[in-house]
Amino acid sequence: MPEFPPLSGKLSRKDFLRSAALTALLPLLPSISRADAERIGVLEIAPGIVVHVGKYQLVNQANRGDISNPCCIIGATSAAVIDTSGSYAMGRDLHAAIRQITDKPIRYVINTHMHPDHVMGNAAFKPDGVQFVGHYKLPAALYARKDSYLTNARERLGEESFKGTEIIPPTVLVRDTLDLDLGGRVLTLKARSTAHTDNDLTIFDHATGTFFLGDLLFSGHIPTLDGSIVGWLKLIPVLMQEKADRAVPGHGPKQMAWPDAIKPVQRYLTVLATDVRKMIKEGKTLEDAMATAAQSERDKWALFNEHNPRNVTAAFTELEWE
Ligand SMILES: [Zn+2]
Repeated sequence: MPEFPPLSGKLSRKDFLRSAALTALLPLLPSISRADAERIGVLEIAPGIVVHVGKYQLVNQANRGDISNPCCIIGATSAAVIDTSGSYAMGRDLHAAIRQITDKPIRYVINTHMHPDHVMGNAAFKPDGVQFVGHYKLPAALYARKDSYLTNARERLGEESFKGTEIIPPTVLVRDTLDLDLGGRVLTLKARSTAHTDNDLTIFDHATGTFFLGDLLFSGHIPTLDGSIVGWLKLIPVLMQEKADRAVPGHGPKQMAWPDAIKPVQRYLTVLATDVRKMIKEGKTLEDAMATAAQSERDKWALFNEHNPRNVTAAFTELEWE
C-alpha cells in the first residue's frame, strides 16, 4: 500500500483544495504493487510519486553511479522526472522503470543541482523531447566543470555505464519560482540561495504536500558541502518554515517527516562551522582542521571519512575570510 497519511479531521481550505485535486487525479494515476516496485527499482511514496533510493557509496563501476535519489511525478497529462542519477546507464534504467508505470509523456527533467550523481543520466530522456529545467546558475556551473565531470565519470564508472553520458544543461531556467502543471497537478520550483551548491532548486508537489529538497537534505549519508556553509545554515530555518507532509532527500530514505528530517544536517553543519571557526581563531592550519574538525559527528553518518575532510576544507576556506 502507498504510505501517505489519511485525510482526516478538520480540513483547511488549502487542504480541502489539495484533497479535491488528489481525488480528481487518483483514477488517472498508476498504482504499483510492492513486487513490481522491487523489480523495477522505484518505490511509490504518495499517489503518482515514485522514488528510486540510491546507495550510500562513492561512484564506482559496480554501482554505475547509483548513489542518489531520482524521482518521478505523474500528473493527469504528463510526467516530470527529478534528477537522473549518475550515468547514462542509470538514466536508461530509470526511464525504463517509469515506462513500466505510466505511458504519460515525460515533459520535464528537473535537475536539483549540478552534481554528477544527479545529472549524468539526463541524456536518456533526450529522445522524449523533454524540457530540461534548473536553477538559473546551473548552466554556468555545469559549463565550468564539464570536462572534469566527464573525465572523472568515465574513469569511475567504466566505459560500459559511461557510454552515452552527456552533460545537458537546462534550457528552462528558474530565477525565483516557477510553476509546472502536469495536468491537475502543479509543481512549484524555487531557486535557492547558495548552500549545498550555488544552484540548488527545491520542488513542491501541491497535490500531496511532498517537498523534494535535492541535496539540501541528506540523511544517513553525510552532507557534502560545495557551496557555502554560512549560506546553508542560513537557509535551513527558511526551508523549515515550509509546510509539507513529507520530504524527499537527495541522499537518504525514500521519504522523511518534515521539518524534523533536516535537523541532523543542521547539527552537523553547526558542529563543523563551530569547530573550524575555533581552530582558525587559534591559528591552527587546514591540515590540523582536517584531522580533528567535526570528529564528534564521526559515528553519526555513513561515508564520514570519505567526505568530512573535503567539507572541512570547504568550510575552512570560506570561514578563513570572515
Ligand atoms: Zn550534491
